[in-house]
Amino acid sequence: MKTIILNAQRILKDDLLESCFITIENGIITELKSQKGDVLSNAELFDAKGALVTPGLVDLHVHLREPGFTHKETIKTGTQAAARGGFTTICAMPNTSPTPDTPQRLHDFYEIVKKEACVHVLSYAPITQGLLSTLQVNQAQLLKAGAIAFTNDGVGVQDALTMLKAMRQAAQLKAIIAAHAEDETLKADGVIHEGEVSLRLNLPGIPSVSESSQVARDLLLAEATGVHYHVCHVSTKETVRLIREAKKAGIKVSCEVTPHHLLLCDQDLKKDDANMKMNPPLRSQKDQAALREGLLDGTIDCIASDHAPHTSEEKAQGMLKAPFGIIGLEYGFALLYTAFVKTGIFTCEALVKWMSTEPAVCFNLPGSSLSVGSVANLALFDLDSAVTIPDHFVSKSSNSPFIGRIVYGDTIMTMVNGKIVWRK
Ligand SMILES: [Zn+2]
Repeated sequence: MKTIILNAQRILKDDLLESCFITIENGIITELKSQKGDVLSNAELFDAKGALVTPGLVDLHVHLREPGFTHKETIKTGTQAAARGGFTTICAMPNTSPTPDTPQRLHDFYEIVKKEACVHVLSYAPITQGLLSTLQVNQAQLLKAGAIAFTNDGVGVQDALTMLKAMRQAAQLKAIIAAHAEDETLKADGVIHEGEVSLRLNLPGIPSVSESSQVARDLLLAEATGVHYHVCHVSTKETVRLIREAKKAGIKVSCEVTPHHLLLCDQDLKKDDANMKMNPPLRSQKDQAALREGLLDGTIDCIASDHAPHTSEEKAQGMLKAPFGIIGLEYGFALLYTAFVKTGIFTCEALVKWMSTEPAVCFNLPGSSLSVGSVANLALFDLDSAVTIPDHFVSKSSNSPFIGRIVYGDTIMTMVNGKIVWRK
């Protein structure tokens, strides 16, 4: 089985683009060159028509909702949405029901993945049994069963001793602790960022310090244990500052930021719209600026979607009652490309790196790379045509604040192991 991608463009240094031709045989890139080679008649041809080719995107933070919440998303629809967005590897969060806190449960998850997933799926395991307890999981067993890291994402680990024990266990095993950092006593019943906008809209606020204070605690615990500590969805300027200082001090910390925290802030909240409700919430303009700066100076390692599907009925309950979270897989690249690359704030090379190779490096995952001999995990993006983000998605849910936005950089094809899993 041979596929040839014609007329793609790859990024060279300083965002220069070069036309290229890619030959894929038995799932492996066997040729990658700027000149058209012999196009053999037995090959399947894909004309990229000048689209950008990148290594397949990698997402460290996806809620696939299966098992337990398949009315919101399934492994099948979630991975189809990932393919639609150019992702070839995604990491599934363990706040499912049940949570994969035993090797058997993790095994059951991977069995569904084997049958249903169209992109590579790797799973986290929780830090504590059943997510909400203070009982440690057996990390060694779960690593053996395929866990990539440990997290209780959705909630913060409230108890410092529980976090310390988890970090000690992980440090010994050279495993990663990934944290949704949030002090619940400070978050209380908040639904949006605490500030001028929460006052104006008369909605209970979530103060920045609910995140940053727990990150501060965890950084010191990470220093004490030597563990690799990863901060999920960094949202505040204080968190960025703490991580910047911790990296300088030699603490083993990495972190991610979401597209929505880069693209939006609380000032964009004009009315009670639950598609703007996520946790952590959209912060202030100053926080938004600090996140961009953090990416540019290397404090923030990568971009992750925090794809969090919920049904329209759930989201129709309004800011006070609706669950937190928005979907983010399908137009993440296009939104960021349009807002930041077309405007000259980020280079295309950097954006691609933050969404493909960097997350893989961060977690030591088998990454995707555009080179001869590599497995053909790649994506093609049309940088020239404008599309309007529709109100229907490949995902089972459509809780997006970006419906109606005009973007460039839509995905036209995604390939996993040499097989086309999405084509426009
Ligand atoms: Zn989270």
